Amino acid sequence: MTRLTLAGLAKTYARSGPATLHGLDLTVESGSLTALLGPSGSGKTTTMKLIAGLIAPDAGDIRLDDRSIRDLPPERRGVAMVFQNPLLFPHLTVAGNVGFGLRMRGLPPDRISAEVAAMLARVRLSDLADRRPAQLSGGQAQRVALARALVLRPAVLLLDEPLSSLDATLRDEMRGLIRDLQRETGITTLVVTHDQAEAVALADRIALLLDGRLAQHGPPEALYSRPASEAVARFFGGVNFLPGSVREGRFDCALGALELAFAAAEGPGLLTIRPEAIRLGPGPNQRGAEVRAATFLGTQTRIDLTVQGVALEALVAPDAGRALSPGSRVPISLPPAALWVVPRGRAATGGE
Ligand code: ADP
Ligand code: MG
Repeated sequence: MTRLTLAGLAKTYARSGPATLHGLDLTVESGSLTALLGPSGSGKTTTMKLIAGLIAPDAGDIRLDDRSIRDLPPERRGVAMVFQNPLLFPHLTVAGNVGFGLRMRGLPPDRISAEVAAMLARVRLSDLADRRPAQLSGGQAQRVALARALVLRPAVLLLDEPLSSLDATLRDEMRGLIRDLQRETGITTLVVTHDQAEAVALADRIALLLDGRLAQHGPPEALYSRPASEAVARFFGGVNFLPGSVREGRFDCALGALELAFAAAEGPGLLTIRPEAIRLGPGPNQRGAEVRAATFLGTQTRIDLTVQGVALEALVAPDAGRALSPGSRVPISLPPAALWVVPRGRAATGGE
């Protein structure tokens, strides 16, 4: 198993244009399934192409364990990349596509057939071995591309938005397949997505890229409930932000002094309160609230509240929200474990 390290990786496409990557530092742990998450244009595909060796960095290094692969040609890096669009050879069969890299390596034909058959079985495509790419669905073509990469036994597997072109059912199936294959093979895998829910469902670790910088790297739970900055919190759906100041384990703000559960740096900060963490009813950090609107969203109800002049958004179970009409007053509580303070102002960057 192999650890992938990006150290100070920088890339600017046009000489006078803006930098796409500003010295990216990221360690992808050996055997992990890591999601490289970020909005469109944040530099995800660029990062993948740099690792695969399809483009060269302006600065920085790329290492597999302690060995630099920065100056190696793509085929000698031990890295396989699956593109968003599968790019299969149209004139070759499914089996021919999967075996292509092994033929390039000069393996004997019977070895190739055996490895291809085993790999096709793993991605559940044995029945389609003789088909051409034009006769495949999008999901099947993605599985062929995945098999073609895995059959080479790369040290590192790169998947660029493998799920984004699939409909919801196929996406679930493909996500399950990627997870299973990664677990069985233990190949260090970096999978690109722009969808935070997808990253949470798929990966052991998330590296969040915002504007060509690593905004945070850690287990999904950490990015979700302990964001390093306001930008990370917003990317993960945070909507309630309150400026104030940390003093002796409490947060002083427009809602008064709120009890915190986590240690936060003394001084000015921005409090984030996840909407689903706000409780209707009495409890810790209790305040009186006025209901402005209740909107049924299917699996949840959104309640727009005003608390001491501050607008807050809460998400509650549909039945809890049903009885609330605009203008009614309810007690709410803010569990200390759901309150998190991020630095105020400029986006901070941070690892773990
Ligand atoms: P992502 O995959 O996160 O959507 P990309 O890495 O594709 O982002 O692109 C990051 C930025 O670099 C974008 O602003 C994009 O326009 C720019 N970019 C990507 N590829 C090229 C290229 N070949 N030439 C010039 N600019 C590019
Ligand atoms: Mg991309």
